[in-house]
Amino acid sequence: MNLNQDPHRRFNPLSGEWVLVSPHRALRPWQGNLETPPAEVLLQYDPTCYLCPGNSRAQGIRNPAYTGTFVFDNDFAALKPGTPNDRIDLENRNLIVAEGESGLCRVICFSPRHDLTLSTMPRPAIEEVVRTWTTQFADLRAHPEYVHVQIFENHGALMGASNPHPHCQVWATHTLPEAPARELLTQKNYWQKHRTCLLCDYLALESAQGLRIVTQNENFTALVPFWAIWPFEILLVSRRHFASLIDLTKLEQSHLAHILQTITALYDRVFDVPFPYSMGFHQASGAVNTHPEWHFHAHFYPPLHRSATVRKFMVGFEMLGTPQRDITPESAAKRLRELHRRGNS
Ligand SMILES: [Zn+2]
Ligand SMILES: [Zn+2]
Ligand SMILES: [Zn+2]
Repeated sequence: MNLNQDPHRRFNPLSGEWVLVSPHRALRPWQGNLETPPAEVLLQYDPTCYLCPGNSRAQGIRNPAYTGTFVFDNDFAALKPGTPNDRIDLENRNLIVAEGESGLCRVICFSPRHDLTLSTMPRPAIEEVVRTWTTQFADLRAHPEYVHVQIFENHGALMGASNPHPHCQVWATHTLPEAPARELLTQKNYWQKHRTCLLCDYLALESAQGLRIVTQNENFTALVPFWAIWPFEILLVSRRHFASLIDLTKLEQSHLAHILQTITALYDRVFDVPFPYSMGFHQASGAVNTHPEWHFHAHFYPPLHRSATVRKFMVGFEMLGTPQRDITPESAAKRLRELHRRGNS
């Protein structure tokens, strides 16, 4: 079998799911959407933005004149603290089942500047974002009501971001959400079977092969995983084994900030537009040191495929069968690596 030509499926050991790869399809003619995106020029300060310093938000709350990062409870939170965690099971047949879910949703503004992104912010400002993520994570994981803390950024209107002001969200939940629950199970099973870490072992294989690595520094590696679903998907993995943001050394915080900027700046060069993505960290929640199997990492899921406007849709066979991709993870990694090389020369 030739992985560059023959249709095949690839296994994702983290999620336990498969992805269908159809490399021969990458050249098929495209008759879909090809419009050019509207050129958006952003102001440094936007008087109509509810995230800019000094502006008012919902219910007349006014933002302080913040100068670094700024954290507040989401005015339109998807989850509410203190929600009763009752369970309903109609006739106890496990068919019509619901459970109350308490939680907390916060917003973190990365910068007072409306027009910046992780790809354009000064490095020290990104380091401050990393420190804010860490204190938020530490604060919420210590809360007895919550077992999981999810930090995520929806970047770009294409990903449903409602405001271009650089920001992310933190949701703390009473139960473990689906994706980290699957990854907890796969990492735990691997740990129990091999007494080594799944992602440490995977990273060693990737480093030896070198085919899918996009960029790395002393402490972090960014690669297009073998099982990537999204065209330019990236898995960001710490090179040292640790479980969460709390374990980062000062130097690792700085190197995390550095590689986040490298990745997002690279993305912006793929189609010469601000590249939309959803990204988020997966880390061990719950009591400290109870999850030796967890390896700190982040996923970047960008939807763009063929141009600045042609996105990948999860439709048809992907909704009803298995996710599928055309360009191989190896060719995506090669393209990102070449952009990186060109940017540095
Ligand atoms: Zn703003
Ligand atoms: Zn590990
Ligand atoms: Zn993950």
